[in-house]
Amino acid sequence: MQLSHRITHLLDGGSDGWEVFNRARAMIASGTPVTELTIGEHDIRTAPAILDAMHRAAKAGHTGYASVPGTPALRDTIAARVTDRTGVPTTRDNILVTTGGQAALFAAHMAVLDPGDTALFVDPYYATYPGTLRAAGAVARAIPTLSRHGFQPQTDALAAAAPGARSLLVNTPNNPTGAVYSAATIDAICDTCRNHDLWLISDEVYYTQVWDGTHITPRARPGMADRTLVVGSMSKSHAMTGSRVGWIVGPPDVISHLIDLSTDTTYGVPGYIQDAALFALNEGRALEEEIAAPFRRRRALTEAALAGQNAVRLIPAEGAMYVMLDIRATGLSGEEFAHALLDTHQIAVMPGESFGQSAAGHLRVAMTVDDASYEAALRTLVAFAADRAHASA
Ligand code: PMP
Repeated sequence: MQLSHRITHLLDGGSDGWEVFNRARAMIASGTPVTELTIGEHDIRTAPAILDAMHRAAKAGHTGYASVPGTPALRDTIAARVTDRTGVPTTRDNILVTTGGQAALFAAHMAVLDPGDTALFVDPYYATYPGTLRAAGAVARAIPTLSRHGFQPQTDALAAAAPGARSLLVNTPNNPTGAVYSAATIDAICDTCRNHDLWLISDEVYYTQVWDGTHITPRARPGMADRTLVVGSMSKSHAMTGSRVGWIVGPPDVISHLIDLSTDTTYGVPGYIQDAALFALNEGRALEEEIAAPFRRRRALTEAALAGQNAVRLIPAEGAMYVMLDIRATGLSGEEFAHALLDTHQIAVMPGESFGQSAAGHLRVAMTVDDASYEAALRTLVAFAADRAHASA
């Protein structure tokens, strides 16, 4: 039996970029300890108080079908938060609760693309992006960025990619690069969308993790609220990755269509999960800051560990739980470096190439183990790179 072109071409014949991760997991399964600096998962679990709220909600009976768009209380709370933090008036009608940011990304593209439309995304990119765009029936077109620009998309690259496209997907704070887009970058993105009549999908799931500068949402720029769909999530801000709860902020007519799509796909998010998310949001900034604090600390540790050497260059790490390292001075590709580091030192990092060709010769390091192990792993990585740089000089 013939499978659909859509499902068989999600990866477009390429690899899924997770070989180092899979090897590390296999080594761990066979008893070899590995320092895993690969996926974006906190080294803490969901706070007990949030789990208590989940438990209370379930015990109280919120285990039947829940409201498909999201409970009124959760939608109102997300809307108030968005209004408060961005200055853009936002109500319940602008909000759809989704099964995590990933489902929000897919639904947002389903809302604005017809089969065969061209959808833009920025390279380097979060690993699921091209597959998500293809799953929505689109032709995925990458916009290259440069390491020396801190991987911020530039006006000329945006303008070159835009003709004929229908949507643009951006992500700030950025996974995998740790970049937080500057005001100039946000302006360039918004100008491109206005000039080429593009929908903008703005993935802001790391919005509570900013170390330098400020997070700017393009939805707040003049004329952008009508053409922007913002993707949010509880995963990173509240260490709730496994709860699968996120949202889309967008114009009410788009949200209304997306509610129909949710009815036909997920049929909503479990009520006890939504109640737990509501509880977590109502805990306010203190809890978010507590969850972000380890990454802020480890980012400072990274700067200290990389000071005074030339083998590894740190891309300005302004936000999110990752740092991107330029290891081109070693003469190795990101893939060669990552496999060799795993073999020789049992440290697993992601090759830049897993996130697109713009990140070739780089590594993404997730700051997701305790401070002492993190610092030790980084120092080993730097010494390994210095050896290789010396050998290739
Ligand atoms: N966007 C980005 C940039 C991410 O890094 C992730 C998760 N790693 C997601 C979206 C999806 O997160 P979730 O589905 O857990 O909300």
